[in-house]
Amino acid sequence: GSFDKTSLLPDSSLPTFHSQLQISAAELCYGAESTEQVAMGALALSLLQNSKPNSETMKEYVHQYLRSLIAHEVGHTLGLRHNFHGSTMLAPEELNNTEITHSKGLAGSVMDYLPVNIAPQGVKQGDYFSRVVGPYDEWAIEYGYKKSADVAGELITPEGEKSFLEEIALASPQPELSYATDEDIRDINPLANVWDMSSDALVYSQWQMDNARVMWQRLDEGDLPRGESYSSLRILFNRVLKYYFRNASLLSQYIGGQSFRRLHANNDTSWAFVQVPVLKQRQALAKLQEYVFAEDAFSFSPQLLNQLAPSRWQHWGSSILNSRLDYPIHDRILSFQSAILRSLLDSDRLNRLQDVELKTEAGQALSMPELFDTLQTGIWKEVLAQKEPKTISSIRRSLQREHLNILLEMVLNTTDELEDGRTLAWYELRQLQKAIDTKLKQFGAALDIYTVAHLEFSSDRITKALNAQFLSR
Ligand SMILES: [Zn+2]
Repeated sequence: GSFDKTSLLPDSSLPTFHSQLQISAAELCYGAESTEQVAMGALALSLLQNSKPNSETMKEYVHQYLRSLIAHEVGHTLGLRHNFHGSTMLAPEELNNTEITHSKGLAGSVMDYLPVNIAPQGVKQGDYFSRVVGPYDEWAIEYGYKKSADVAGELITPEGEKSFLEEIALASPQPELSYATDEDIRDINPLANVWDMSSDALVYSQWQMDNARVMWQRLDEGDLPRGESYSSLRILFNRVLKYYFRNASLLSQYIGGQSFRRLHANNDTSWAFVQVPVLKQRQALAKLQEYVFAEDAFSFSPQLLNQLAPSRWQHWGSSILNSRLDYPIHDRILSFQSAILRSLLDSDRLNRLQDVELKTEAGQALSMPELFDTLQTGIWKEVLAQKEPKTISSIRRSLQREHLNILLEMVLNTTDELEDGRTLAWYELRQLQKAIDTKLKQFGAALDIYTVAHLEFSSDRITKALNAQFLSR
């Protein structure tokens, strides 16, 4: 299937990401990512729905974006702060139901940083951005601006208004009015994030990563119009890659995650903090293995990779990169994998996981050993699970090396590590070394040199690190 890529080009009706970056990062509350999201949505419209830049659909799309962006900024001028919980109002299945979204929007609040809503494969596209302000926005404005009938015409005093305002505030526990502002999102909370969507990020992120995969496929299959530079393709490829990993990183919020609500004492027995159910945490880990760490998570044709040319057009807002010219595919994939893996094993998260064990009933927490073991089993699958000799691909070798680096850093205490994390890293490394040595003895002769060298070197590094640690004690 070929399609017309004319509609994807950066100089079509939408401004390019690069030319916007310099202004938006400094001057807009939304920052550069908003521009990236709207460009991503336009790309999805072209690739997934074959909309042309001058079509009615694209015009409507741009209007929806501008309307929601302006509503957000006007919200600030009216005194509203960000509400990053807003995006959790609807279930994933409701997002493309326009009967719902035309009356109450896609989110509880336009004061969230909302990504473009892209329908999953096989579902009719609904609204891309909220057409109306959300229930939280209406409620907050009512609290701030509505006049009490009792005091109409009289001088308004705080005392005179108190009971009237308290009456409005009573609605606060309603889920549609959920609230989390800037200082509430510096935490592992899958419900309070920027650029997430729906009450179930597990489902939504997976939909979007699947969409990204289809978009890569279309970029591979389509033909650029005559005379067009291949550098356009590189920009689009990178845009999809970034979108993919932004969605993947939302999943990591589930591991050791908890929700936080600003509750006040009343008859309700809800807690301010609620841990993410352990089942959900396991599902998120499994999705990360499948979409980020697995051997078949990324597969691009040589045809596509060899067309990702750098831009040679120097203009305002876009400089020419004087670095490697061809596309550094291994580096690009590893940098994203590494960011997610390091975040999963970072000391803040490990501290949280340990605390959660005391804050939940037995068996209701994801334990640190389970996290370490699940990651190791998935990442070193070729060594730990394979019954036959299995060549380890270059992308997997670099991921395994990075996993090893992280565990070695923990054991050698080069980072500010939780002692239990350090001990578990030591335990996992010993298990891994045994498995590697067994595998080499068993299948060494049947493996290629890349794999043998990688495994022997890994085993040697573990030996040296464990010995170094004994010396240091
Ligand atoms: Zn804002």
